[in-house]
Formats: sequence, structure tokens, C-alpha cells
Amino acid sequence: MTRLVAGNWKMNGSLAANRELLRSLSAVSGVEMVICAPFPYLAQLQKRPEGLALGAQDVSEFEEGAYTGEVSAAMLAEFGCSYVIVGHSERRALFGEGDALVGRKAVAVLAHGMVPVVCVGETLAEREAGEVMSVIGRQLGAVFGVLGRASMRKVVVAYEPVWAIGAGRSASVEQVAAVHGDIRAWLEANGIAGDEVRILYGGSLKPENAAALFAVPNVDGGLIGGASLIGEDFMAICRAAADAV
Ligand code: PEP
Repeated sequence: MTRLVAGNWKMNGSLAANRELLRSLSAVSGVEMVICAPFPYLAQLQKRPEGLALGAQDVSEFEEGAYTGEVSAAMLAEFGCSYVIVGHSERRALFGEGDALVGRKAVAVLAHGMVPVVCVGETLAEREAGEVMSVIGRQLGAVFGVLGRASMRKVVVAYEPVWAIGAGRSASVEQVAAVHGDIRAWLEANGIAGDEVRILYGGSLKPENAAALFAVPNVDGGLIGGASLIGEDFMAICRAAADAV
């Protein structure tokens, strides 16, 4: 599977800063690169380095209408988005998004021909309580429940341990290997073969740890927050993804 590296700019950027950042990005052969920008900048990103795909960080579950402040999947598709992050832990924790809503958002994304990047992952308390896979199984199960097997094959899963996001320190290679292996086993147990769904790792992925993390079995790419705002770091991570066997 071609590895996928998606930059999640979160609520960062400005027209000028984005222009600067885009100047330092270019396609790396052998890896699929995506920029998930804040909604207003999707217009600016209509002009971007060739070979870089566009994504969004969230979407409305609703099709259209009286939903002030929401952005529909149709709008994202119209602006050329191919990927949409759903269920990022910041949306779950800060905006009260639950599993069922994340599932409905994934449905909306697929209905408009885009790929949902379904984020899953445990908090530190859940890890310490030995609940890693029960939490992730619940999060994946909610999406699988509304999509069904055929559509679940079209998603990308991003494992993002909440305690590693923005923390400066990623999960260890052993921790990532264990969880990615368990997610793969969960998918296979639900009839989705190993080469059908990419599983990304996210959480303080940086140039310094990228090669080691991409070498882990079942790590099919990365979701990159902080480091995606630094052009040379994002490029180094993409090169590491392309070089990993
Ligand atoms: C993220 O928010 O998706 C993320 C992985 O952030 P960071 O790389 O900054 O930990």
C-alpha cells in the first residue's frame, strides 16, 4: 500500500504564512501527501504544489440547510478535498463529539466521494486502566456500524493516542506496533483484509522518529500536527515514509 502522510494544520495559519509554507512543499514520489487546512484556506489551497491532495479537518453531518456555522461535505468536495478528518480527539474532547456523530460524519464524507480519516485513540487514563483496545474497538465499531463492511473498506484509520498528541513525545515503537497490530486484527475479524485499509499513526510524529515509526508493521502512514506547519519537517517526514520498506 502506498503510504499516506496527512498534515493537520489545525487552527493555524494565515494567508501570508500559508504562502510561505506552501513554497517549501513539493510532491515526494512513492508517498501520498495531503494538507488538511482550516476551512477558509481551502480557497487559497486551490493553488498548491502539484501532487499534493487537499483535505479538511471536520465536516457537518448534515447535507445542507439551517445549520449556522457548519460546513457540508458537498462544499468540501466542491473545493477539491479528497480527505476529511473525522473524530479527531480535539473534537471529541473539546467539542463533545461522540462515536455516533463521528459515524454520521464518515457517512456524509463518503456520500460525496471523499475519504474519511477516522481518528481513534485512548486517553492516558484509559491506557493505564488497560482499556486501549476496548476504547478503540468501540470507536471503530460505531463507524463500522453505520458504514457496513463495503464502505468501511474505503476509510483511512488514524491511531492517535490522545496523550501523545502535541506532547513532543510519540508513543514508543512497541506501543505503536501493539496497537496497530490489534487494529489490523480488529479489521480482519470484521472481514476487511490487511491491504484494504490504511492505518496511520499520529501523535508527535517528527523527522527524528519518522523512520522508526514508519518501519513498524501496519503503520501505513502518518497524521502530522505540529510538524506539518514546518515545511522542511513535513518534507522530511514524507521522505521517511517513501523510504520505509
Ligand atoms: C494531530 O493533532 O493530529 C497530531 C498528530 O498532532 P501532533 O503531531 O502535533 O502531535
